[in-house]
Amino acid sequence: MILATAHDPGPHGRFGRFGGQYVAETLMPALAELEAAWRAARVDDGFGDEVAALLRDYVGRPSLLYRAARLGAAVGARVYLKREDLNHTGAHKINNCIGQALLARRMGKRRLIAETGAGQHGVATATVAALLGLPCVIYMGAEDVARQSLNVFRMKLLGATVVPVESGTRTLKDAMNEALRDWVTHVADTFYLIGSVAGPPPYPWMVRELQAVIGAEARAQLLAAEGRLPDAAVACVGGGSNAAGLFAGFVDDAAVELHGVEAAGHGVATGEHAATLGAGREGVLHGSKSYVLTHTDPARLGQIAAAHSVSAGLDYPGVGPEHAAWKESGRVRYQARTDDEALAALGQLARTEGILCALETAHALAALPSIAGELAGRGGEPLIVVCLSGRGDKDMNTVAQRLGVTL
Ligand SMILES: *Cc1c(COP(=O)(O)O)cnc(C)c1O
Repeated sequence: MILATAHDPGPHGRFGRFGGQYVAETLMPALAELEAAWRAARVDDGFGDEVAALLRDYVGRPSLLYRAARLGAAVGARVYLKREDLNHTGAHKINNCIGQALLARRMGKRRLIAETGAGQHGVATATVAALLGLPCVIYMGAEDVARQSLNVFRMKLLGATVVPVESGTRTLKDAMNEALRDWVTHVADTFYLIGSVAGPPPYPWMVRELQAVIGAEARAQLLAAEGRLPDAAVACVGGGSNAAGLFAGFVDDAAVELHGVEAAGHGVATGEHAATLGAGREGVLHGSKSYVLTHTDPARLGQIAAAHSVSAGLDYPGVGPEHAAWKESGRVRYQARTDDEALAALGQLARTEGILCALETAHALAALPSIAGELAGRGGEPLIVVCLSGRGDKDMNTVAQRLGVTL
């Protein structure tokens, strides 16, 4: 199997006007070494076969494509769910971690590092580190360590070292700086495993290709089940990796609409949201140019602002550069759904299908009625595929709290 897909970025990792390499000089050799290794691995059958074998035997791929008939009836469409929630560890993040960890081993790097906000990427990284027998250090803002104690415990049980970062706002962006510092200092033996289609090149491109298995499977499974391509493919967007992975299967099919759904938090107008593409502006964050959320008050004008979402995985003030390019070209349409809309959609999926999804995923589901309504206006029953990016177990405390239930 070959991992390479179409749509390579341009020079310096550009996607249209976006992407590019905005990093310190000291980081350039590490990124160049990584990119060369990725370019070789992605066209190497042996490497692709190693990835495919672990995705099959360890992750449980192919993930199911399930026709959600009762949900479909409720939203007015023929709806299929791509069940990434059934993967080992309960979400799509493991697809990317398997690929990067195997690349680390191929490059002779004996140590994995990562940064994590809510802890989900930290857990996925600690999982593959244990699987391959690699020591693993996870950087996490001290604030997040306190808020996400269960995930910290999971990482430690898996054998990882969790380093609380006390600088700055003691959250994700400070953890990211710390991870970069570690990488620059220990580049000879260390691999930095980034969890979404963000960061400096080659990460946005590499992570999309490692997640493209979602779209490739969904496309083949839909053709087998329905004999045709969907009218629309829908996914939630935090950094944008599950969406990019699903979209990769359909981006060359002009008739398939692509919809990305961001988190509108308390509502975009309140300023407390994570709708980076919908309400942010162009800027540079974590080594590449994309859209970012920034402060608008004169004292902090242009500085990166905190994102807000009920779902920890969408709570990121940036977004992958390829999404910025897709927004600009119009190939993908983006909208945002609020915390309350996501909670309602989570409840609807639970009651109609017996599936408890992640709060991130619920944002994609919340957009279904409007997308289905618009498609139905053109006649016929719309066929829609949604990426069910993760399971909801991790979010049950949050959901209970929001519903006013004490557990
Ligand atoms: C992390 C996460 C997301 C958001 O990340 P993307 O890179 O945008 O895919 C979405 N859903 C789940 C279940 C997650 O864990």
